Parts: sequence; C-alpha cells; structure tokens
Amino acid sequence: MLDLNTIQSAVDTAHRDFGQAPGGANADYIPFLANIPSDLSAVAVVTAQGDILSAGDIHYRFAIESISKVCTLALALEDWGAEAVQQKIGADATGMPFNSVMALELHGGKPLSPLVNAGAIASASLIKAKNTEDRWSRILSMQRKLGSAHIKLSAQLNESEQTTNFHNRAIAWLLYSAGYLYCDPMEACDVYTRQCSTLLTTVELATMGATLATGGLNPVSKEQVLSANNTPRILADMTMEGLYDTSGDWAYTVGLPGKSGVGGGILAVVPGVMGIAAFSPPLDEVGNSVRGQKMVASIANTLGYNLYKS
Ligand code: GLN
Repeated sequence: MLDLNTIQSAVDTAHRDFGQAPGGANADYIPFLANIPSDLSAVAVVTAQGDILSAGDIHYRFAIESISKVCTLALALEDWGAEAVQQKIGADATGMPFNSVMALELHGGKPLSPLVNAGAIASASLIKAKNTEDRWSRILSMQRKLGSAHIKLSAQLNESEQTTNFHNRAIAWLLYSAGYLYCDPMEACDVYTRQCSTLLTTVELATMGATLATGGLNPVSKEQVLSANNTPRILADMTMEGLYDTSGDWAYTVGLPGKSGVGGGILAVVPGVMGIAAFSPPLDEVGNSVRGQKMVASIANTLGYNLYKS
C-alpha cells in the first residue's frame, strides 16, 4: 500500500493540472444542470482503510445522476442474486448512448446493461418493495450506505427532471411491452428519476468507490453493506458500460472500472485498494465529465493502478 503523502500529492497534481482543463459543456437537457457553475472542480480518494485525501471544491454537493445506477444495481443484486439480474436485465455493453432506444430495439427489448437508462429503470422496477415510497426509500438507503448518510434528494433537481423526462417514460413503456419491466412503468420511471436527483460530495462519491473496492465494507462507516459476492459483478458492469459508449476507450486508456453521471461526477475503483472520484460539470459529447476523466486518469496513472497491468 502506498503512503498517504504519495496519494495526496497525486490528488493535488491531478487537480492542479486538470481541474480547469478546457472543453465540454454542462448537460442542458435537464434545466437544473445547465445552471451549475462550470468552473467547479474537485477530486478525492478514499482508501480501503478509510483514509480520505482530496482537493478542490470538496464541499460542493452535485447531482449523482447516472452514478445512482450503480447503487440500484447493488440493491437489485442483493434482492435477486447475480443470475436473476443477468437474466432479467442483462450483463453486456450496448455500445450506444445511455438513453438509446435503438439499443433496445436491436435486442428484443432487453436492456443488456443495468448502467444505461433502460437497464436502470428495469433495476428500479426489480427492487422488492411494498409501494412507490418503499421502493424509493430502499434505493436512497442503499446510496447512503454505500456513500454517506448525508446524501439526500434535491427537490428542485427532482422537479426539473420529473417535468422533462419524457424520453425515459417512453423507455419505461417499451421495456414493459417487451416484458423487461417488473413493476408499474411510471412508478419505475418516477423512482429512477428521484434516484438521479440526489446530491453528494466528491468525498462521498469516492467512499462509494472504496466500498465497492473492499467487497462491500464501507471503510468510513465500517458497515458491511453488500455481500462480497456481488461487488465483482458490479465492477464488471462498470467496466463494460460505466462510461457509456466510450467505456472501451476508458478501459483501454485507464484500465479501471468506472462510472460517470451527467451531473459531472465520475468514479473509478481500484479493487482492494481505493475509490477515486472527481467532479466538474462540463461534459464531452457522450456525457462524461471532461475534467473528471482527466483527473481520475491522472491519479490512477501516477499511482500505477491499472487492472490489466502484470
Ligand atoms: N437522469 C439522467 C437521465 O436519465 C441521467 C443520465 C446520465 O447521467 N447519463 O437522462
């Protein structure tokens, strides 16, 4: 294990070199996200031992968006087991944009990955629940256990998403018609939209990564929140689809399971070692944070972490 000064220096260097890198633009199809200051940027590492190292706007709470898909997948795996999730949602890359309808059409309506919108709406529908509020509270509770108890819904962001999520509603109905949606479609879409509308800090995001790195033991809260059998499945899904249609490029250049969100957050996991997270709003054309990718890649590279290295 590296010493903490080495990690802090990698974190500082990444933020200094890439925290204001040019390029990209805020997501604007969700009105709330278009108005977030584009110059915010933060980066954090949480180690498997629970050490926290960070730089930049680390107290700023940003929208979790698609990174929430990891948490709901984790809960679906806990509720149903790996085989059922593979059969009911899938475990493969789509190679297409995160909200692609064509990807569904090409595969008989099966979402393939729990980390695209269709697969995440299907995951939300799979969660065992008595009613909508129970479904929502179980998903929020999983976000909090994986990350931190401070993660909460932004009413303003949720309103902004719920009043513009027509494309996702259509996806929910397509899933339903193909037999890949497991509760009322509009309930699934409502809860999925809420799960995207929580706010968290970069350190809380890195904590989620550390919890996945340790086989489900949150190293900050010290709580075992997932069964260790399920974390390799989650990391495999992140490798295949975590950065959408550029997941392959990310594996090729960085070599770590990752997950991004259109709120500007990005997470990478070094199994057994640490979670690395970054945040900055401007996105590239597929929806990944431009600076976030550079900051995370810089830390992984400086510290020498790449799963495919001998
Ligand atoms: N809430 C967003 C959506 O459903 C999340 C997408 C993302 O982060 N890629 O479009």
